[in-house]
Amino acid sequence: MGCQDIQLAFHCKHSLAKIRKILNCFENSSFRSIELILNYTGSLTASNLRNLADKYRRISQLVVYNSPTSKSIQSPHFSMHEIIWTKDQISEELFAPVRSEKQFSVNLTLFCESQNFNTYLNRKVVIAANGEIKNAPNSKIEFGNYNSAGLSAIVNTKEFQSLWHVKKDDIEVCKECEYRHMCLDNRIPVKKEDKWIHETNCLYDVYTGRWNTN
Ligand code: SF4
Repeated sequence: MGCQDIQLAFHCKHSLAKIRKILNCFENSSFRSIELILNYTGSLTASNLRNLADKYRRISQLVVYNSPTSKSIQSPHFSMHEIIWTKDQISEELFAPVRSEKQFSVNLTLFCESQNFNTYLNRKVVIAANGEIKNAPNSKIEFGNYNSAGLSAIVNTKEFQSLWHVKKDDIEVCKECEYRHMCLDNRIPVKKEDKWIHETNCLYDVYTGRWNTN
């Protein structure tokens, strides 16, 4: 499929040895970056995760959810900003809304992509634990099963790719937001009465310029 970036989100609690074994599978792959979302165990300590990130330089994000405390530490290398432990559950971590300007990604590639494509969904494919293929982890629509239909047969269909083309400029409210070309908001747009909308509100109020995060 030519994917360059992959996110591995684990529901099970894996030992460090198992995590290393999984990461070894990607050593000779063409993946450029790997995001790891891990279920907390006592062995996921700062020093162990620093060592992991140091050994596997493709890791671009390392988040431990379900942790007894929330904290973050500096990563050992420049291609990843922080290693994060959060008390949140996996669903809250994966589907958290945009909460501040710090989460925006200001770069030319994203700016150009946002002119024609949805910056969250474009060229994204998710294989759920049961093999179902979806546009995103929080998407309700399943397009078929990886084990029976195969990945490319599903991903290359017009139906699967239709949301890729729903850019922020097409979506109510977002189309009036000054952040629309740098925002990676993870809500899934839906069409209602011939208009693209989101079913939940963004925490940023485009009309007052304030964040409703309290
Ligand atoms: S209104 Fe839309 S573009 Fe603006 S911050 Fe919220 S999700 Fe992003």
